[in-house]
Amino acid sequence: MPPKERVPWGRWRLVWFQAVRVGGLRRWTGGVYLLLAAVLFLARDVPYGAGAMPAGVPAAAPAVLGLDQRKPVYAVPVDGRLVGFAVNVDWGDEYVPGMLAVLAERGVQVTFFPTGRWAARRPDLIQAMVAGGHELGNHGDRHDHPTALGDDQLAELIRRGQERLETIAGVRTSLFAPPYGEVDPRIARVAAETGHWTIMWTVDTVDWRRPPPETIVQRVLSRVQPGAIVLMHPTEPTLAALPIILDRLLADGWRVIPVGRLLAAARTPTH
Ligand SMILES: [Zn+2]
Repeated sequence: MPPKERVPWGRWRLVWFQAVRVGGLRRWTGGVYLLLAAVLFLARDVPYGAGAMPAGVPAAAPAVLGLDQRKPVYAVPVDGRLVGFAVNVDWGDEYVPGMLAVLAERGVQVTFFPTGRWAARRPDLIQAMVAGGHELGNHGDRHDHPTALGDDQLAELIRRGQERLETIAGVRTSLFAPPYGEVDPRIARVAAETGHWTIMWTVDTVDWRRPPPETIVQRVLSRVQPGAIVLMHPTEPTLAALPIILDRLLADGWRVIPVGRLLAAARTPTH
């Protein structure tokens, strides 16, 4: 069964119509409707995974996000159909080769964010990622909770991960995906001090819960937007969903690229 379509503007338009119509008869009723309309407007289309974002951070408003390395990046203001894929890896070895094959068949490159400990366990897969032209990001050396670490410990977590990847693949990371998606201004600042951008996401597949592949497909296709970052992991349903997602996006004129390339394509803020 396809997930329910979201038509936020349909609801808004109906309430607006009511407000204008009734407002002409009784001003106070119109006022109530206008208030209700405002509430519905503010509540409209809250993206999935928004609960993981700190208060005050727009979930999906690339146009208002400037580029500042000390702030987490949720989406990148770009012109055109560019979307970045971020694959966080701390487990799921068995699905990584399949994902690499699906990407290679379509000539698509993404960003893999492995932990240092995973990289040490599977240097062969790290090298396969680099050989496939993919970007390597940093998911910390271990999958520790960044909020539980002091500044120095957090910097160490990031630097150790960077060193391990550099030793294995000769690549120096500049993007940091915090383990557990835990972020706050301090975490982003410490990451910046180690030379990393803190990368979050616009579209969360929540694939680690192993939903049916169709759910993953629907989550991505219904929320893709220019400059979006799509978060996924190596899981069985992700591997099944990936070719469907890519074929659809490519057919619709999207370019799926690594997150670093998305940042490089950022539009200069107009203010
Ligand atoms: Zn993770």
